[in-house]
Amino acid sequence: MKTICPFCGVGCGIDVSENGVRGADYITNRKSMCIKASILPEIRELERLTSPMINFENVEWRKATNQVADKIKSTIRKYGKNAVGFYIGAQIPTEDQYVATKLGKGIIGTGVFDSNVRLCMSSAASALKFSLGTPLPTADYDDIDEAENILLIGVNPASNFPVLWNRILKRKNREKAKVVVVDPVITDTAESADIHVHIRPGTDLILISGIASALIEHGDADLSELEGKEEFVNFAKRWYPSKASMITGVPEETIRDLANLLENRTLFMWGMGVNQTINGTDTGIAIITLAKISGNLYGNGRGILPLTGQHNSMGAREAGALAGMLPGFRYVDNERDVEFVEDFWGVPRYTVSRKYWTITDLHKLVEDRKIKLLWIIGTNPVVSVPESRRFKDALSYIDTVIVQDVHMTETAAEADVILPAAGWGERDGICTSGDKTVSYLPTMNSPPGEAKPDWLILSEVGLLLGAENMEFSSTSDIFQEMKEIFRNTMLDLKDLNYSSLGGGYRREFIPGKVRTKGFNVDLLEYLDYNSFNLITIRLSTQWNTTTKTGKSWKLNMLTNLPKDVVMISLEDAKEFKLEDGDLVKIRSRENCLLARVKVSKGLQRRVLYMPFHWGLANALMDWKADPISKEPAFKQLYITLHKADEN
Ligand code: SF4
Repeated sequence: MKTICPFCGVGCGIDVSENGVRGADYITNRKSMCIKASILPEIRELERLTSPMINFENVEWRKATNQVADKIKSTIRKYGKNAVGFYIGAQIPTEDQYVATKLGKGIIGTGVFDSNVRLCMSSAASALKFSLGTPLPTADYDDIDEAENILLIGVNPASNFPVLWNRILKRKNREKAKVVVVDPVITDTAESADIHVHIRPGTDLILISGIASALIEHGDADLSELEGKEEFVNFAKRWYPSKASMITGVPEETIRDLANLLENRTLFMWGMGVNQTINGTDTGIAIITLAKISGNLYGNGRGILPLTGQHNSMGAREAGALAGMLPGFRYVDNERDVEFVEDFWGVPRYTVSRKYWTITDLHKLVEDRKIKLLWIIGTNPVVSVPESRRFKDALSYIDTVIVQDVHMTETAAEADVILPAAGWGERDGICTSGDKTVSYLPTMNSPPGEAKPDWLILSEVGLLLGAENMEFSSTSDIFQEMKEIFRNTMLDLKDLNYSSLGGGYRREFIPGKVRTKGFNVDLLEYLDYNSFNLITIRLSTQWNTTTKTGKSWKLNMLTNLPKDVVMISLEDAKEFKLEDGDLVKIRSRENCLLARVKVSKGLQRRVLYMPFHWGLANALMDWKADPISKEPAFKQLYITLHKADEN
């Protein structure tokens, strides 16, 4: 049967049969796939949650949903609606995210509702929204096949998006497209690049400004129809190429060469190396502006395409699951949008909270005992959020923690109520890949035990809360409602239905006004070259918090790294007299832990790499975040490191 791989935002079409999994001839991947998709059948039934539980005792569904509804009612009565929080994942179909959003924001009316997309993509979404008015990229994956230059900034597709990387390599090898990689680390991607711009960590914004400055200086910048151009030009002129070179460590000549390259069709891609910094949104805006002034914002082989980590991150934006958003790319800070959604859902005026809190605020609310009930759906924050150990401890301050998930996770182990959810292939729905392709995921198997689709659980609780508009008979029913709320927006699904989505539907980007600005850069505030800069990474053989990939013997064997590994440069290893396997103590401003050294030739001095999959790196992080997107700066933690005594 044809379906979509549920891991990354490439959204590969796959054929699943008794013989295993094969890449399908689909719009996003053209028969390719990576090793992660191959493990899907083997792990589907392992360590599943199969019965609702209260205090780890199996109970009937009726008892569990009644308990959830009663707790929500009593919490609102005693403490108000913002004492109820939701935190949901982007691995579930858009229909399920939409129903969760409707229940949380539209029926309960809490402002404490966020998506785990906050941790990976919200800076890119904020930049797109600011500059283009909508959080959609202008390019799609087919533009790779027409680009003359592919500029990859802070992203490692060779490891994280192998299918796209193979397509990029094909373009490079057959058509001589130039691949330019901006990265502080010699990654697998950087090793194969035509130009590796070996930048100092955290200085991408200055590099982009230096390139823009060179274009402006030569009169090659098209500044027409660009709102805010004066502020941008003033900023870019302050960071002229020779000055940008001093800060970024990139030779001035390279900066000028990059400006010259932009004469040709250029595709701009970026990832977590940009998003997870304290100026991720501003850097995204600067990249979009550079694409605009070099004539590369639209057209075949041109455009901007930030890569999305999770397979349905775009669905989270569409469903309005992020804090501050509502379905159909509507926003809480736009009163007309809020009133439209309230009327559409048929709820009284001012039901939807005009204030909102992100996951970056939530941890504080929890510690301040403001959250009395937290409903976590399809995500594992006990491992994935900054200061994860502290977050885990803080969950004990909450009266009722509800976890709805497919597998037993570290977060589910902290729950008062567990609701078992149907997983990939056990319920249908749509998802949207990083290049705006909407795909249909069919049902292939029944869920094990008593597990149910997320939307059905949410709908049942909504009905118990007395909300008749939470009644849905099927996913098609939800799809029809979403189509109505998306109508006349960029997300309009026109006359599409599940069967016509079989080949995938790629949304068009409709060009409009482009906006830019100047930026405040306080280098002293965020650059510290005396300490180590710890960068968290994702490995090619694991996925997020390993709730799925960690169950595959094949992937675990290929991962072949200790869970407490920290990678260090040859230079630093020599200076600190460290060898592979040595124990080191790592101390950040807030936290401290022990890790095992692996010396790595790709790293530059004072840069450390640590996989985030097993939670150790996240335990070390703090909640420092981009001030606009509130995305935590997982790529900018300054730490000290000392050799530790084995005893
Ligand atoms: S590239 Fe991403 S979507 Fe494609 S098979 Fe691999 S993990 Fe799945």
